[in-house]
Amino acid sequence: MKQTVKQKNRGENTKILLTGVFGPFAQDDDYGSRKDNPMELFHNQVTRVQGPFSLRVFHRTFGLSMIEANIEAACTLLEFPTLERFIAEIKNNSYELIGISSIVVNIKKVKKMCREIRRYLPQVKIIVGGHIASMNNLDERIDADYICKGEGIRWFRKFLGQDENAPIKHPAMSAGFGLRVLGLNVLQKEKTGVLIPSVGCPVGCNFCSTSALFGGKGNSVVFYKSGDEIFNILCELEKKGNFNSFFVYDENFLLYKKRALRLLKLMQKHNKSWSFYIFSSADVIASYTMEELVQLGITWLWLGLEENNSRYSKLNGIDTKELVTKLQSYGMNVLGSSIIGLESHTPKNIDKVIDYAVSHNTDFHQFMLYTPLPGTPLYLEHKEKNTLLAETDVPIPEIHGQSRFNFQHLHIPSGQETSYILSAFEKDFKINGPSLARLIRTMLKSWKKYKNHPDKRVAKRVKEQSKPLPIIYAGGIASMIRYYRTNKPILGQLKLIWNDLCSEFGLISRILASLVGLFAFRIICKEEKRLAEGWTYEPAVIYEKNKRARKLEKKKLFISRIKLPVYDYKQVLDKCREHMETLCHNVEESYKTSKDKLDSLLKKHHKDLQSLVGSSQYRAEMKKQIVNNTLLQIKKIRQNMKVTISTIQKNIQNTCDSMSKRYLYSQKQIKQTGKHIYRNMKYIMFQLQKECRTIKRTFPQTF
Ligand code: SF4
Repeated sequence: MKQTVKQKNRGENTKILLTGVFGPFAQDDDYGSRKDNPMELFHNQVTRVQGPFSLRVFHRTFGLSMIEANIEAACTLLEFPTLERFIAEIKNNSYELIGISSIVVNIKKVKKMCREIRRYLPQVKIIVGGHIASMNNLDERIDADYICKGEGIRWFRKFLGQDENAPIKHPAMSAGFGLRVLGLNVLQKEKTGVLIPSVGCPVGCNFCSTSALFGGKGNSVVFYKSGDEIFNILCELEKKGNFNSFFVYDENFLLYKKRALRLLKLMQKHNKSWSFYIFSSADVIASYTMEELVQLGITWLWLGLEENNSRYSKLNGIDTKELVTKLQSYGMNVLGSSIIGLESHTPKNIDKVIDYAVSHNTDFHQFMLYTPLPGTPLYLEHKEKNTLLAETDVPIPEIHGQSRFNFQHLHIPSGQETSYILSAFEKDFKINGPSLARLIRTMLKSWKKYKNHPDKRVAKRVKEQSKPLPIIYAGGIASMIRYYRTNKPILGQLKLIWNDLCSEFGLISRILASLVGLFAFRIICKEEKRLAEGWTYEPAVIYEKNKRARKLEKKKLFISRIKLPVYDYKQVLDKCREHMETLCHNVEESYKTSKDKLDSLLKKHHKDLQSLVGSSQYRAEMKKQIVNNTLLQIKKIRQNMKVTISTIQKNIQNTCDSMSKRYLYSQKQIKQTGKHIYRNMKYIMFQLQKECRTIKRTFPQTF
């Protein structure tokens, strides 16, 4: 295993495959897929037990797209392939580099992919990155050439010998795909894009693998430092992707207050009414006024709640319940995130811990097991204490935060955590009802509060977001009322939302929403049945080539388009021989016929002469007639022969001409093919020379 090597610019023709690991994901298999760890962020760890009400949506591997957009190379992106699809890709294409992005649980898949690459493309360099790179002994577990730890854009630029400090370009990426709600696949207009202003988080909570991957406490990699830069990027994305809202993949977007407030100023100046879905720590969010957040367009917050009186400074002095209620009352959806299994949790207090989390009544609630993931301070702590569990006890594919602890908990007996985390989800669902209803409730608050906001941008944004409220969302609530008709506590909550919606949007909305509700109820029942039968949801394969890769692809097609000349002279000669043979045969026939005619003519001539009787004068006259007649016949025979000779001459000439034409055509084809072959050979040899130079640079000590 070599470490990062700086290379001379390999140029735009370096063929790179950037890929995620293979699926299917929502099943138990030998490669580490697990039924309880599907490739769906929400269904995996937020709305996990909400059955037909669960939010089903897939998210792309944004890191790969960011790398692709920021290096000069012919890149192919492959996401969510099956193993067969991945093998077909490396079997039928040649690459110089293959980058695999993965999280820790998928190590077996990465191992298998490396093996397959060595089998089909032994000359390729394999680079493995993502959270898996935090594993200490990764290089001993998989057959990769390089491990890309931390931020990948800079790493790839350095590896390719390109400018590491060039400005970061931001690709236009949709936030999610394959959205499925209440059992229906939703046709999205792709209005929500992705913004990645930085990676990592300087807050540095001890368990946070994202923070650890990008430098830990006090560190992060900021792509866009100023509000102006972010504003310009957002304008670009709005134009390119037609987005009016953005999911901001920044662990703590509002942490840089100066940047956020400058962005607000620019949005106001340029009349932009974007909305943002963000991640934030409680202390940071509490440092803004509600009006600032609303004006900024904060619509959805992913908020770490951890626990009451926790050791985390981000929660110090903050009443998170009060904060959540306040945010919701200002029309902001809150996704609370709580951890099960902190040091202070015991079998005795775990119910209280869960009750406290559930009492926040957030719109969505994520629960994760306290998990020391490689690279984090928590992992080091357990390693030092020797309290990490062996892989034989808890295999790596189980360490996804929804199933098992990978350490010996001070108070919780091993294995019990699985039921705790499940009960947290179930309690939240049982008490607070479907997240979709909660989401609609907060949206309605936003509509009521801001539909006439003096800042026209805010009013416009809220009106845009609330368009589905009167019929579609109200219809969703109507269907839930039917579904929960025997569950009084949830029914009561749903009826409050329904009455609020009806009084806000009037009779027509009530009638239409009731009809939608009837239809949606049937779909929900079908979805419930489907889920009970074990149906799972898998993402579609994503396969994209950038401009440079497409250009190379064209070149490849050009090579395969070359027509080889007809080298089949045998066929030409055979045809010629056949022709000549026919001619010879015809001549022979003609000769034989004429000869026969001549023989019989002569015979007849002699016979006629011998049979002459009568006077000498009469015989002299008859003889003259016979001779003349014979001469006439001979003349005819001669003329026939002459015609035959002239026909043969013409035929031979035609054959010769045709042969010459064919020859000239073949000659032209040979010349053209020669040129093509030369050009392509030259290109291939040039690539080979480049490869030689790279190898020489990579192993300088060997040469
Ligand atoms: S605040 Fe959130 S993102 Fe930042 S380190 Fe803590 S858990 Fe990670």
